[in-house]
Amino acid sequence: MKRIGVLALQGAVREHIHMLENLGCEAVEVKQKPDLIKLDGLVLPGGESTTMRKLLDRFELLEPIRVLAQRGLPMFGTCAGLILMANTLVNDEPHLAVMDVTVARNSYGRQVDSFEVKLDIPKIGKAIPAVFIRAPHMETVGKDVEVLAEHEGKIILARDGHLLGCSFHPELTSDTRILEYFVASMV
Ligand code: GLN
Repeated sequence: MKRIGVLALQGAVREHIHMLENLGCEAVEVKQKPDLIKLDGLVLPGGESTTMRKLLDRFELLEPIRVLAQRGLPMFGTCAGLILMANTLVNDEPHLAVMDVTVARNSYGRQVDSFEVKLDIPKIGKAIPAVFIRAPHMETVGKDVEVLAEHEGKIILARDGHLLGCSFHPELTSDTRILEYFVASMV
């Protein structure tokens, strides 16, 4: 059974845990350093990246997670999780700085703080529901990064080797296909 951690400092933690358990994984809440032992993968959930960064510093998790990413542990960052992983942030200092993408926060303006679309993602499936909440997007990606999905010309799902990042919240729907893609093809 694959053992997948979910960073559990803030944000959509429980939804990821449920979805991972539905997929037959052992899901582990990561709140402190020992929780990172013997993981096969790690999910960095959506929430609020500035708050998460403060908590990562307080619980001394930033550096251990960065080292695991550099050593090749598969990670999936959703929304604020993508912001945490990005090498470069527009108008902000980066956090983990492990994924070769440039991310802009809050890319969808005030009137559309939150919306849902159906995405056709060639590698994953058709009409996959995606919930965007004050979502970021990837302005540019490095040469080894595979763009998996775009929406209205913005990159919203991409893979940099063992690191997967998306702008939206796949765990807030009942459709498990994106998380399944992460677990089946990367972990
Ligand atoms: N806008 C949030 C941030 O900057 C991310 C939103 C989300 O994770 N739903 O952290």
